[in-house]
Amino acid sequence: MKKRVDFTACVENEMRLFLPAKSVNEAMARSAVAAFCAQLDPTALELADLKCAVSEAVTNCIVHAYRDTEGEIELNVELCEGRLVRVTIRDKGCGIENVKAAREPLFTTDAEGERSGMGFTVMENFCDEVRVKSRVGKGTTVILLKRLHK
Ligand code: ATP
Ligand code: MG
Repeated sequence: MKKRVDFTACVENEMRLFLPAKSVNEAMARSAVAAFCAQLDPTALELADLKCAVSEAVTNCIVHAYRDTEGEIELNVELCEGRLVRVTIRDKGCGIENVKAAREPLFTTDAEGERSGMGFTVMENFCDEVRVKSRVGKGTTVILLKRLHK
């Protein structure tokens, strides 16, 4: 079992980005996170992992949170002491009824579409910790925590 990441680490640098929830902006979101984290000189694998996890969280905002509606995605990247990267992805969309169930592998509310229910599992595999807070009708916040190599 993964150890819980210390959340109190001091923030040394920070970036905040607001994007319309359009699929054309998904690549921008993951590239922006990677570009900002480059100052910590991460390995290519660490960067690829982060981009993949961010891509899943941002895609969820686009296809689930704001399904058939328009909205905004807030992306916050914090570089914390101890080479901890904390990425917060926030939407004000429909929210998740049962977060525990949504995080199970293969769980999807869109089985008829092209979804496979593996987004949260990918985030968990590529990060040290994933936190999800959601309220139906209010929105969802996903926090990705990843510690980079020394
Ligand atoms: P895949 O990511 O494999 O394409 P998926 O998006 O259905 O499929 P997950 O990313 O694991 O799978 O998400 C599981 C479920 O959680 C979704 O089907 C959806 O019901 C819900 N969900 C996830 N993120 C959000 C969000 N930001 N807003 C509302 N619902 C969400
Ligand atoms: Mg998904």
